[in-house]
Amino acid sequence: MIIQENGEIADGIYSLGSTWAPLFLIDGENPVLIDAGFSFLGEIYAREIRKITGTRQPSCLVLTHAHFDHCGAAGVLKSIFPKLKIAASAKAKKILQRPNAVKLIKQLNKEAADGARESGLDLGLKDWRSFEPFEVDITLKEGSTIRISENCILKALETPGHTWDCLSYYIDPQKALFTGEAAGIAGHNGHIYSEWLVNYDSYYKSLKKLSQLDVMVLGPGHNFIFTEKDARQYLQASLKECVKYLALIVNCLAEENKDLQQVANRIKKLEYDQQPEPKQTESAYMLNLKARIKTVLRRVEKEEKMAKK
Ligand SMILES: [Zn+2]
Repeated sequence: MIIQENGEIADGIYSLGSTWAPLFLIDGENPVLIDAGFSFLGEIYAREIRKITGTRQPSCLVLTHAHFDHCGAAGVLKSIFPKLKIAASAKAKKILQRPNAVKLIKQLNKEAADGARESGLDLGLKDWRSFEPFEVDITLKEGSTIRISENCILKALETPGHTWDCLSYYIDPQKALFTGEAAGIAGHNGHIYSEWLVNYDSYYKSLKKLSQLDVMVLGPGHNFIFTEKDARQYLQASLKECVKYLALIVNCLAEENKDLQQVANRIKKLEYDQQPEPKQTESAYMLNLKARIKTVLRRVEKEEKMAKK
């Protein structure tokens, strides 16, 4: 099944807030939250969490990575739920201690809120919260676990490639996997967008590792949730797509004599211009695309050097 709405997606597992920037709640004795989307949605996430947990407070928020649209409301949620502990990788913790990174996260969250307001989005919000800096209380690495209830455990998996700080989370016994952007993102046109920003080979390796898990529910960081056959198919399709996408960039680099801007323009035409709304802003897309092409260019140049030896 491909789920496009919020609500309970598996036994005790909920997708809340907005499908564009969902917060996942795994309910149990110690309710755990995964990712915290945009700051301005903070009040909505909190309201929807309370609907499910009642007077119990969520115990822990785990972050897939320190991008603005995945940790935006973390500080807001901490102020609403004072006992909430925030967990992430050691690399994410470091990023979140850098004043410049915090400034950028804050700015991008403000722009996202402005954009939502301008588009006339009516969320019934009394309070459009802005980003509140926060500290990571618990650092997680490959194999770290968090106990949600006697029979339910969250396990962290290191899945670098989108960024270096990426963790994915596997919930047992529901066999639910939450990947942030480590497994790409499906667009509303059905295409799976490969999301490596820092390194193609790490991204591929991480995706391969994820595709070998026994998965019944898959929640990538945006848009859709996949279950059963569709979850397994998604991971296989995403792997194929990233190989194809690498070949496309390598090809364009050769044809355009490694001219980054030309390659970016060509790929934008094929990819972004065809993509239906909602999609990221053009400037954000181009920034990410150029980062992606640069990593491929470095890879091509390394291979050329090796071939000369
Ligand atoms: Zn990201």
